Amino acid sequence: MVRLDAESHERVAMPGRGSTRRSRSYSATLNCGLVLTYEAFTLLPGVGEVVPCYRHGYCTVNELGVVNFPARRDPSRARPRRSQEELLAFLSHCPVTTVHVLRRNRFTLRTVAAAQREGLVEVDLVAGRVALRPTPG
Ligand SMILES: [Zn+2]
Repeated sequence: MVRLDAESHERVAMPGRGSTRRSRSYSATLNCGLVLTYEAFTLLPGVGEVVPCYRHGYCTVNELGVVNFPARRDPSRARPRRSQEELLAFLSHCPVTTVHVLRRNRFTLRTVAAAQREGLVEVDLVAGRVALRPTPG
């Protein structure tokens, strides 16, 4: 399905500077490599969806992710590794993602593998695909 709301996309593509304090927004990476940023999960298009791309007109969404803006820069303090809980929270927003996206969001393969062992996620290492396993029932 083609979305024609190019204007609204553009408005949310830039994370607000100053007006609203948000520490998290959502990103959609297009097949051309362009990353669109959305302030609300509900605005996020789906993978495979064709969205307006300001470079090419329309491009397909390749992958979704969560962008975290650090509250302040403190390079001397390494951020703690993410927990499995955070992994599941991430996947609840983004049920199908890739190992690449997870690593970019500071999740380790160990965390992903542990969640897989517990049957919480499905991992296809060949395709690099990670998916939240649907809850039984
Ligand atoms: Zn494009």
